[in-house]
Amino acid sequence: MYFISTRGKERVTGAQAIVQGIAGDGGLFVPEKFPAVSSEEIEKMLEMDYAERTAFVLSKYLDDYPADELLTAVRTAYSRFEEGDAAPLVKIEDGVYILELFHGPTCAFKDMALTVLPYLLKKGCEIVGIKEKVLVLVATSGDTGKAALEGFKDAKGVKIMTFYPEEGVSKMQKLQMCTTEGNNVNVVAVNGNFDDCQTGVKKIFNSEECRAALKKKGYLLTSANSINFGRLAPQIAYYFSAYCDLISSGQIQLGDKVDFAVPTGNFGNILAAYYAKRMGLPVGKLLCASNRNNVLTLFFGSGTYDTKRPFFRTMSPSMDILVSSNLERLLFEFSGRNAALTAERMNALSAKGKYSVHADELAKMGESFYAGFASEDDTVECIYEFFMEYGYPMDTHTGVAMHVAQKYAEEQKDAEEKHPMVVVSTASPYKFPQDVLYALTGNDVKDSYKGVKRIHLLTAMKVPESLKAIRYLPLRFKKTTSPAKMFDEVLEFIG
Ligand SMILES: *Cc1c(COP(=O)(O)O)cnc(C)c1O
Repeated sequence: MYFISTRGKERVTGAQAIVQGIAGDGGLFVPEKFPAVSSEEIEKMLEMDYAERTAFVLSKYLDDYPADELLTAVRTAYSRFEEGDAAPLVKIEDGVYILELFHGPTCAFKDMALTVLPYLLKKGCEIVGIKEKVLVLVATSGDTGKAALEGFKDAKGVKIMTFYPEEGVSKMQKLQMCTTEGNNVNVVAVNGNFDDCQTGVKKIFNSEECRAALKKKGYLLTSANSINFGRLAPQIAYYFSAYCDLISSGQIQLGDKVDFAVPTGNFGNILAAYYAKRMGLPVGKLLCASNRNNVLTLFFGSGTYDTKRPFFRTMSPSMDILVSSNLERLLFEFSGRNAALTAERMNALSAKGKYSVHADELAKMGESFYAGFASEDDTVECIYEFFMEYGYPMDTHTGVAMHVAQKYAEEQKDAEEKHPMVVVSTASPYKFPQDVLYALTGNDVKDSYKGVKRIHLLTAMKVPESLKAIRYLPLRFKKTTSPAKMFDEVLEFIG
């Protein structure tokens, strides 16, 4: 299987796509064609455990990796999760389910891929024949950073550096990142928002000068952000897995369509769902749920993606994003894989901060996607009412998706064909304890751990060991830099 750039100038193997992270022409790597999964194969997946399902999906794309090794790597990765299924599906009532993706080492869905990526990268270097050390650069809105640090800490031949927006992450997220152990890690705050971090990292990637400077020091640069196909691939698996679980538990029959509601930021998670659909998973609608930073909602409504608008800090910080990188992959598909047009639009985005798609493309997107958003009030209300009604505490990101799912259900009330809805839960409520406590009780507490304790008293939901453990760890990283100085920080780190 080969991968091509969305901007048309490159064609590489899976291992190369993962090692490089981003194409040389600035585009993102996409599979040359979507591998098919037949209904017989879905039937076979019913018998598999979660690691086997993931390895099965991965091997469809990464046929240059040894299949048995993929399985071992995935098994090892998910053995770091809490006991039991790595991606359990919880039934709320008939037709409403929550896919919990937060049982990994950092309590957010980023763990689903970032526990697997270190293997994909290491093996990829071996397959491609790379001798240099690897420098992983990450821009994070809070969750990717910690998950990547955990995945790569103490990995041989790798250094990892994470940039986060100084004021743009929750206290718990900051604490998680800045207490990371390991001798190959670095964490730096940036004076700006997530888009500044992401743009800064992309600039380093696209700069010949930066790459040459790193090469001179013996480092090859790569990305652990969801622009890397190695991040997307493991995410496709849980959509298949949720579908299998619905069949196994007698909720649906093979072939029935299922809708998914996904809290969306960089468009990586929901894109994985779309890839699953293209591979043959019977998916109805994909609900793209945004918070107040609702650029995507407006895009799916109007066909114009416009980043020239105010940026809001919300209680779902991992979705506080104006430039959703992975949308490029979707544009590429809906333009009929027109690389020149995709490149043109991405150039317009960096030059003018906006672009538009054609009416027929928009209409086609509307068949697969429904877009909506939740205000801060909507989110609080939804978390509160859901807990009152079902006794199930959601985190703030999941609350956004649930709100949009409920709105969609309301609109579909009289529709002839209705599908079961799976709401994707991307973080543990304990990861955003102050906001979740506020939503549940109206109480404000200053201290994250006070929030954790009160949520526990209220819900009796188990507190993840990893969050308990960091409470008394020393803060190792305290530095803040400006967007312009990010590369200087990189150079200082690698020495
Ligand atoms: C990253 C993240 C999201 C957004 O996912 P994308 O793949 O960037 O769309 C949503 N919720 C949480 C908790 C996250 O960490």
